[in-house]
Amino acid sequence: MSLTALSIADLQEKLRAGELSPLEALNSLEDRIAQVDSRIGGYLWRDFEVAKKFAAEADVSLPLGGVPIAIKDAINVQGEPSMSASKILKGYISPYDATVIARLRAAGAIPFGRTNMDEFAMGSSTENSAFQKTFNPWDISRIPGGSSGGSAAVVAADEAFAALGSDTGGSIRQPAALCGCVGFKPSYGRVSRFGLIAFASSLDQIGPITKTVRDSALVMNAIAGKDAHDSTSLDEPVPDFTAQLGQDLKGVRLGMPREYFIDGIEPNVDAAIRTAIKHYESLGAEIVEVSLPHTEHAVGVYYIIATAEASANLARFDGVRYGHRAQAPNLIEQYGRTREEGFGPEVKRRIILGTYVLSSGYRDAYYLQAQKVRTLIRRDFTEAFKTVDAIICPTTAEVAFKVGERSDDPLKMYLADIFTIAANLAGICGISLPCGFANVDGKQLPIGLQLLGKPFEEAELLKIAHAYEQSTSWHQSRAMA
Ligand code: GLN
Repeated sequence: MSLTALSIADLQEKLRAGELSPLEALNSLEDRIAQVDSRIGGYLWRDFEVAKKFAAEADVSLPLGGVPIAIKDAINVQGEPSMSASKILKGYISPYDATVIARLRAAGAIPFGRTNMDEFAMGSSTENSAFQKTFNPWDISRIPGGSSGGSAAVVAADEAFAALGSDTGGSIRQPAALCGCVGFKPSYGRVSRFGLIAFASSLDQIGPITKTVRDSALVMNAIAGKDAHDSTSLDEPVPDFTAQLGQDLKGVRLGMPREYFIDGIEPNVDAAIRTAIKHYESLGAEIVEVSLPHTEHAVGVYYIIATAEASANLARFDGVRYGHRAQAPNLIEQYGRTREEGFGPEVKRRIILGTYVLSSGYRDAYYLQAQKVRTLIRRDFTEAFKTVDAIICPTTAEVAFKVGERSDDPLKMYLADIFTIAANLAGICGISLPCGFANVDGKQLPIGLQLLGKPFEEAELLKIAHAYEQSTSWHQSRAMA
């Protein structure tokens, strides 16, 4: 087993015992990436020179002391290219650290590389990156999921101990599920988004993609909490997210939403989820059926709200302030040409859709209506959480699909997030963790179990996930051992 297959917690044990130095950990990562990333395509950029300077001075007694962490290209790191995998931001070097990066550094962690993603986080396969494709480490003819596909792939391929991603409609949980990792989406407002290149501001959250549940809790300990630079971050007390790990599940009630167990789920995914639910029962949890009646509207509502917000957020890319600037005889043409040359087809499609649903005459029919249905979706969860502690369901309806299979079918691509989107609309927290494999064409393809938790009850959700993980062995299988 490669040294880089270690979890954060196991790496730290070795660092603190003096069996390994932070510099050695970083060197082994550099070697591993050199060995496998030409096949995976997970990194857009990396710099070990600067990282090694930090490693040489790392204090391993800090909460994440000496732990290298890979960062999604949408999150600004000072002095590094931050492009959100878009040509329009080619050449942009961030002059500052996102709050999550400043907090990771304060905890002793070392950012060293940028992971590939769908352009501006719009997509479910990472095929919308303007720069390269990323391949699933379990079967390189398949996609790794998206939009944080690079982050999930590098963790799965042991090219990173852990990574940060962002989740607007499933972009942490869905790639984590398809790559056999743990992906954690915090509640809206739990983690600062200052320095995250915005996609849809009422939905975006930053969170970890890791090998274990404990590692997600460790990263959360470093990044969570109110930030004066992000007015949507909430001033809620930040618990120790590892505090409840290891507690038993007696008295825990898990809700199986009727609307998430429907036709169209691949039989092997359905079987794995049902087996996981039985396993929870054997651990002492009580399973009850719940209903989230507005689920069927989630995808439609999301593609109105997310595109509306994206069209406003992306207005800032005008060729004047950041990145790419087209040559043109006058300012108006410069705006137009810059955006024509800089944005990829999916981003343009979303800007057009978003502008349409906000335009006068249509705003009430689409945008305002969607906001109302969003409230109903949120209320469904509030109702369900009156009787259960968490919701249990699949993360995705299918295992990873083939590269290219859906590139020409945006609607089919949009359906990849059918089970993850509602959590963002409701602002609640969610996690995906490995719960089995499907055997397809002689390859083992990971299946993800999703747990959704009450807003700001992340520690409880992590406890529930951890109990399952520790009594199963799915998370121990490595993609490219
Ligand atoms: N796949 C969804 C989309 O394309 C979600 C993306 C995300 O969470 N960033 O919008």
